[in-house]
Amino acid sequence: MKAPPFAYAKPRSLTEAFDLLERPGAKILAGGQSLIPALNMRLSSPGLLVDITGLPGLSTIEARNGTVRIGALCTHSQVERSPEVREHLPLVAEAVAHIAHPAIRNRGTLGGSLALADPNAELPACALALDAVLIVAGKKGERRVQASGFFKALFETDLKPNEILLGAEFPKATKSVFLELARRQGDYAIVGLAAARRGAEKRIAFFGVAATPILLKPTSLEQAKKSIPTPNGDLYNSPATKLHLAGVLLERAWTTLS
Ligand code: FAD
Repeated sequence: MKAPPFAYAKPRSLTEAFDLLERPGAKILAGGQSLIPALNMRLSSPGLLVDITGLPGLSTIEARNGTVRIGALCTHSQVERSPEVREHLPLVAEAVAHIAHPAIRNRGTLGGSLALADPNAELPACALALDAVLIVAGKKGERRVQASGFFKALFETDLKPNEILLGAEFPKATKSVFLELARRQGDYAIVGLAAARRGAEKRIAFFGVAATPILLKPTSLEQAKKSIPTPNGDLYNSPATKLHLAGVLLERAWTTLS
C-alpha cells in the first residue's frame, strides 16, 4: 500500500522544528524505518512530516567522565561501530547488532527507537538496565528524564506533543550481558534481556514480555525468577512458553553477571 498524502518539511534548527511541530497533524520523522511502514500500512496519517535529520549536533557520540552521550540522530550502524560504545557500553554495542538488518540499521536512529517504545525493541531495555537519562527538548527548554520514568505504556512515552528527544546519557558499565531469542537473525525478539551490574546491584530489563520493558533489581536468582511477569503471548508463542524462555535467559545472564 501507499502512504496517505502528507506535507514534508526539513528544519535546520530546533527553533524552526518546534514552530513546525505546532502545526496541526505534524509528526517527527527521523530514520523513517518504523514511521514510513506505519504510513504505508495506513496505521498513521500525519498531515505534515517534520524531518529532523537536518538538525545539527544530534549525531555525535561522546564519552565524558562516567557517561556516554549518544545523540538521537545516531543511526544504529553508527552506534554499532562506535569505539566509545564498544569500550564503555558493550551492552548497547551487542544489542544494536540484533536490530533488524544492515539496511535498516543504516537509517534507523537511537532517538527513533527510544521514542517509539516498541515493547520488543532492544534499546529501550538497554536504557532501563543502564539507568540512562533521556534528554528531551521543547520550546521552553530542556528536561532530563530517567529511563525508568520514560516508558509509560505500549508505544507510549513521557514525551509531550511537540517535544524532541535530543539524545541519551548512558552511565558507563562494562559488566553486562545481552541475550535475545528470535525466530531468525534480525527479527524482533520473542523475548530478550539486557542486564548490567552496578556495584552489587544487578539490573535486569526484559523486553518482549509486556507492554513496556520490565526492570528487575533482584537480590537472588530465585527472587528474580518469581518476579518475571507472565508474558503476553504472540502469534507463535504462548505466555507459558515465553515465561519459560525468559527464565532460561535469566539463568544464563545470572551466571555472567555474578
Ligand atoms: P522513525 O521511524 O522516523 O520514527 C519512529 C517514531 O519515533 C515516530 O513516531 C517519530 O515521530 C518518533 N521519533 C523519531 N525520532 C524522534 C525524536 N528524536 N524525538 C521524538 N520523537 C521521535 N527495531 C528494533 O528495535 N528491533 C528490531 O528487531 C527491529 N526490526 C525491524 C525490522 C524491520 C523490517 C523494520 C522496517 C524495522 C525494524 N525495527 C526494529 C525498527 C527500527 O529499529 C527503527 O529504526 C526504529 O524503531 C525507529 O527509528 P527511526 O529513526 O527509523 O524512527
